[in-house]
Amino acid sequence: MGDYFRRVAALVREHPEAKSYLTNVSNCQTHRLTGVELSAITNSTAIVAGFHAPERSVSTTWIADRFVAAVAAENRIEARMETRVVEVRPEHAGDTEGRWRVVATGGDDEAFDVVINVLWQGRPAIDATAGLKPAGVWSNRYCLSLFARTVEPVDIPCVVIATGPFGDIKNYNDRDFYMSWYQDGLRVDSAALSPPDPPPLDELERSRLCNSILDHLQAIVPGVARTRSRIEHMSLEGGWVFAAGGGLLSDPRATLHRRSDFGITQLGSYFSVDTGKYAAAPWLAHRLADRLSS
Ligand SMILES: Cc1cc2nc3c(=O)[nH]c(=O)nc-3n(C[C@H](O)[C@H](O)[C@H](O)COP(=O)(O)OP(=O)(O)OC[C@H]3O[C@@H](n4cnc5c(N)ncnc54)[C@H](O)[C@@H]3O)c2cc1C
Repeated sequence: MGDYFRRVAALVREHPEAKSYLTNVSNCQTHRLTGVELSAITNSTAIVAGFHAPERSVSTTWIADRFVAAVAAENRIEARMETRVVEVRPEHAGDTEGRWRVVATGGDDEAFDVVINVLWQGRPAIDATAGLKPAGVWSNRYCLSLFARTVEPVDIPCVVIATGPFGDIKNYNDRDFYMSWYQDGLRVDSAALSPPDPPPLDELERSRLCNSILDHLQAIVPGVARTRSRIEHMSLEGGWVFAAGGGLLSDPRATLHRRSDFGITQLGSYFSVDTGKYAAAPWLAHRLADRLSS
């Protein structure tokens, strides 16, 4: 793992824009924690090594709020909220070079010059209606995580735990935290074209799940107790993870870990975009905009 980190760090350092990443990463180094450094974070016998890496976590809730505001402020975008796309088909049957009809719930049925399918879970189902046959293996996982705000600053590090079971703690600003324990949070794991809705949770189940996530994290990172005792409010929020791969996260050989297979597929003026990872979406958006405007 140390060797893998060293190679990734070298790639980051050598990137021409390393200086203008979220922070200057032109001296990017990873560092294997000494026994003393590791014991300041964990006393778990399940943890055999720790590494410090200059990874930056972005608060996706903060970005989402700005994104929604930017879309609302742009009068060339007509937002159709609470609308579910059910089908995209060529305006003239079999003519994939022409316009496309987008059919949605509520009776929407309109033709467009260009269609970009950037759905996440369920994207291949719409692709199939357009005539793009889904290929390979994929999985749709619905995961719940905890978002907590504390009454006062709590100084605990960002941690990713990879022992087979997986969990992570993101400390955004010492008061806002993201916390997940994969086995608790995973609610749906489906290879269906359109995955089923996640099962509903009542208040008691939500509260049990929150405690279980915190218990699992605290068992490995005792400092979580300090965050836990100072929580002002917390919410359990979910999201889908689409991956061109399958298998168990705890299986190092699972194709789920091979996340390089993403990008843009084109059928005439219909584009299907697998964003792959949150971090890759802006890069893909640029590539697509360049392709459409060239
Ligand atoms: C717990 C968790 C942890 C993650 N951690 C990381 C990480 O550390 N790093 C990373 O890079 N990525 C991570 N991801 C993945 C990241 O969140 C996704 O890559 C990103 O949200 C995908 O953005 P998107 O806009 O493509 O899809 P989404 O944000 O899912 O947006 C798709 C939208 O389309 C809507 N929609 C779906 N079907 C239809 C339809 N038929 N008609 C109309 N609308 C529809 C959905 O309601 C949704 O609003 C994580 C995801 C989860 C859930």
